[in-house]
Amino acid sequence: MTKTNCAHSFLLTTLCTLFFLPAAHAQNQPKPRANPFAAAPQMSQTQQDNFPPQLLEELAAIKSAALVDDYAYRQVAHLTENIGARPSGSLQARAASDYVASELRKLGLEVRLEEVKVPHWVRGAETAELVDYAGQIPGTTQKIVLTALGGSTSTPVEGLTADGVAVNNFDELKALGREKVAGKIVLFNKIFDKQKAAGGLAFNAYGEAVRYRSAGPKAAAELGAVAALVRSVGNADYRLPHTGFSASAGIPAGAVTAEDAELIAHLATQGKVRMHLTLTPQKLPDATGYNVVADLKGSESPEQVVVVSGHLDSWDLGTGAIDDGAGVAIALETAELLQKLHLHPKRTIRVIAWMDEESGGAGSQAYTRAHSTEFPNHVAAIESDAGASHPLGFSVKMSAAAMETLQPVAVVLQSTGATVLQASSFSPGADISAMSDAGVPSIGVMQDGRTYFNYHHTAADTLDKIVPAELRENAAAMAVMAYALANMKDPLPR
Ligand SMILES: [Zn+2]
Repeated sequence: MTKTNCAHSFLLTTLCTLFFLPAAHAQNQPKPRANPFAAAPQMSQTQQDNFPPQLLEELAAIKSAALVDDYAYRQVAHLTENIGARPSGSLQARAASDYVASELRKLGLEVRLEEVKVPHWVRGAETAELVDYAGQIPGTTQKIVLTALGGSTSTPVEGLTADGVAVNNFDELKALGREKVAGKIVLFNKIFDKQKAAGGLAFNAYGEAVRYRSAGPKAAAELGAVAALVRSVGNADYRLPHTGFSASAGIPAGAVTAEDAELIAHLATQGKVRMHLTLTPQKLPDATGYNVVADLKGSESPEQVVVVSGHLDSWDLGTGAIDDGAGVAIALETAELLQKLHLHPKRTIRVIAWMDEESGGAGSQAYTRAHSTEFPNHVAAIESDAGASHPLGFSVKMSAAAMETLQPVAVVLQSTGATVLQASSFSPGADISAMSDAGVPSIGVMQDGRTYFNYHHTAADTLDKIVPAELRENAAAMAVMAYALANMKDPLPR
């Protein structure tokens, strides 16, 4: 947009004023936190010092190589189709750690499998039907499609039968009080805001709805509910339930599809809704899992570390392609590209495939216990855990000075479209949040999230949802950012 466009309409004028006012005063005021860090025509002295021509050429070569490389796709294909779903504590999760470790060894990295005690919860039967409701035809029931939430306890094997009560939010639950909740099955019917998702704010929509999945069952249990259901936190209605983590509530907890949440809520306005519910998951003893931690040693400052990562565990319903086989695969490709191009990072690039992001983050906690003394030397941490769609840029939690220093990365990535550097007030990745809290500049690859929550935590999170060309763009974004962080003259300022 140029300034002349600003005359076109009131709206544009307003927008342009908002965007250009800070620039007009740039001489006298501190620069605004660099947002779309589109090609700065002139690099600042700091940027020139940190990104000499040779580094810019190497970064361009990494990008070009990534855009024709199918390594990451082959990796996520193996993880999803040959190994399969990788829930914490499963044989597949263990096999995936071994597989990723062996791939990284093949690439010549120093690889460690770092032990993590992980929860081991396994899904059982999951069925439900409405057995008493207004207008019911005698001898019939209404099927409810649902899935257990991670950590749910079990109903009796034969199931339980109870009246349902539907609420839209925590306030409505509180207003009902123990008297109207005790002995009931509570449904949290919080609607996922699809317009936000369509408008590019999918993670905001997720954040608003997921509170009910994570904390709803516990809140219902505290008022004496015998079970809790949540409306699936998802962006598409194909009667697919979305599982996910839920805080331990001591009662059976499940996610019904959006369609079934509507059905129950509608019938509840007409009278009693009685449900027969069978969920028989089991919590097994904690199991041993592994973070895979692999170093491509820095040639000049090996003690300084740049983390590239994704999480290796997945939910059990699908095969964990977009969540988060893709993230692991592009982190692996960062190492593969540098080795193939014979490029040597000055600082250590550490590839991490995290275990147990989905059911509590034990992998991230174990890494923090083992490595927190190294955090002052962790120059930056990158995680990709928002799918595999076209990358728009990066979501970052770092200082304004650090964001400014990184601007040339956007110039290198311009042809891929991954040019936005968006400041975040919280860690852009769950597994890197402890590092982020400790002051390590943290970076999330920011994918187009418009369809992510269509499939997230469902049986439809499978390899076909990944567009190979878009995965290559993601690999380019992560590898270029990582190599820039490893080879800039100075460590990224904090
Ligand atoms: Zn994830």
